Amino acid sequence: MSSSAELRERAARVMPGGVSSPVRAYTAVGGEPPMIASAEGAHLLDADGGRYVDFVLAYGPHILGHNPPEVVEALRRQLDRGVAYGHTAALEVELAERLCAALPSVEMVRFVNSGTEATMSALRLARAATGRDLVVKFAGGYHGHADALLAAAGSGVATLGLPGSAGVPRGAVADTLVLPYNSAGAVLEAFATHGERIAAVIVEPVAGNMGCVAPVPGFLQELRRVTRERGAVLVFDEVMTGFRVAYGGAQLLYGVEPDLTCLGKVIGGGLPVGAYGGARALMEQVAPLGPVYQAGTLSGNPLAMAAGIAVLDRLRSGDAYTRLEVLGGRLGDGLRTAAVAASVPCAVNRVGSMLTVFLGVERVDDYDDARRSDVAAFARVHRAWRDAGVLWPPSQFEAAFLSTAHEVADIDRAVSAFAGAIRGGGLAGEC
Ligand SMILES: *Cc1c(COP(=O)(O)O)cnc(C)c1O
Repeated sequence: MSSSAELRERAARVMPGGVSSPVRAYTAVGGEPPMIASAEGAHLLDADGGRYVDFVLAYGPHILGHNPPEVVEALRRQLDRGVAYGHTAALEVELAERLCAALPSVEMVRFVNSGTEATMSALRLARAATGRDLVVKFAGGYHGHADALLAAAGSGVATLGLPGSAGVPRGAVADTLVLPYNSAGAVLEAFATHGERIAAVIVEPVAGNMGCVAPVPGFLQELRRVTRERGAVLVFDEVMTGFRVAYGGAQLLYGVEPDLTCLGKVIGGGLPVGAYGGARALMEQVAPLGPVYQAGTLSGNPLAMAAGIAVLDRLRSGDAYTRLEVLGGRLGDGLRTAAVAASVPCAVNRVGSMLTVFLGVERVDDYDDARRSDVAAFARVHRAWRDAGVLWPPSQFEAAFLSTAHEVADIDRAVSAFAGAIRGGGLAGEC
């Protein structure tokens, strides 16, 4: 078998940056990304036989860890029955019913193949339903890589320090208003100025792509109130938070019901999937019932549906969220305690099993706060994690995740490597 080094060299020759998605190149933290050979529970194994505790979890989907037996079994069963039909299958109905039952605001859903497609389609629907063009998004919010949503985006756009992306026509972002996250005041001002033209407000109800940033009390409620009052569509991008922070998503956790919800990640069990849904009256405007066109050759793919159903059924029937909260608490408290002991300023933001440690800042409520953090210090800590057999997301601006497959020993390994890095690395003086 080829070594990681050899694979990286071959990859760099035939794939830009040697990757299929930019953050995977480790540009922000330095060092060479491991080439993965296999995965098992909370662990990844690289092509050189190295074993890592995985806090990336494919950037969110693997809430039960890698290859949980229920999902493997469901996929095996489905393989013998076919992998794409071009017709509606029972599995789609079953997953759609589960989503509608779990999410308070969702009466109908449409399946797509990625989170990007879900947000793109939800905004098309919002614009059609309102007859308006403007879309409000928040700085550091990432909603996939559709043209109009790359303005001041989080995730890889933030990691690489880009203002947006080349190749996006001016017209595509001309109708995007970017406001600071967690600022209800800025939203009210935008509505006071442009209210008649705002079709939608799209928000990560818990931000995850500028690192993890929870909504301040009242923020989501205020978005709900003003959009309803001004006839705009409130879109919760729950691609990351859906079934991650609670079985009913962030909307259940915070008690705020959006008009449209975007889903992905967890609901596909690690296979490519997305979905958007909402009230019947809105969703009936989607083709073939209504004039909003949106389609997909592989949408509702039976393998993805089977995996998603298996994950959701396990999440609903067990005590997964209790376990995730306990593990998350241990990780968050451990990191915080280590930082205090080393007198290193840092903010540990956590909602359930989503977590970010921002170094060199005391508090992070929005993207400006996040960008004040010490990314060089983060890169050093990241290398210490890597040396200790811990794979942490390779960017200050990506949330780390936990799964039910993580054990206390996995958490403690990450905490003690962190403590060692900030104690021994001379970070205290530099932060
Ligand atoms: C990951 C993510 C997306 C994009 O999903 P893809 O499947 O990568 O296209 C959109 N919104 C949020 C909040 C995400 O976390």
